[in-house]
Amino acid sequence: MKNLSVTLESYNDQNIFAKILRGEISCKKIYEDSYALAFYDVFPKAAAHALVIPKKPYVCFDGFITQASDDEITGFFKAVGKTIELLGVAEEGFRLVSNSGEHGGQEVPHFHVHIMGGEKLS
Ligand code: 5GP
Repeated sequence: MKNLSVTLESYNDQNIFAKILRGEISCKKIYEDSYALAFYDVFPKAAAHALVIPKKPYVCFDGFITQASDDEITGFFKAVGKTIELLGVAEEGFRLVSNSGEHGGQEVPHFHVHIMGGEKLS
C-alpha cells in the first residue's frame, strides 16, 4: 500500500473530529461504542449522510489499517455496519467512501468513512 507519509505522530488533535470526540463540538450522534462514533455529516451530500470515525487518533485509512489492532479494525467496521443498519439504508443500497490524503480530497485529518444513501446517488 502506498505510504501517504501520514503517521500517528503527525496527527493534529485540533482537527474537528478530535474536538467532537472530546465533546468540545457537538454532533448529531447515530451510534457509539468503544471503537467508533457515528454521526450525521453537517453538510450532507445525500438524503442520508453519516460519518463513522474511530475513537483512536488515526489520520487516514493507510494509518488505520497499518497501525490499528485487529480488534480495533474489526470493531470499527462492525460499527460501520451498525450505522448502516440504524440509517435504514441497507435494503435499498448506499455508498461507502473514505477520502484519503491530498489526492483523495480528505479535508478532516482524522480517518473516517462516509455512508451516503437514502436516495439514488449519481
Ligand atoms: P472529508 O472530505 O475529509 O472526507 O470529509 C469531511 C466531512 O466532514 C465533510 O463531508 C464535512 O461536511 C464534514 N464536516 C466538517 N466539519 C464538520 C462538523 O463540524 N460536524 C460534522 N458533523 N461534520 C463535519
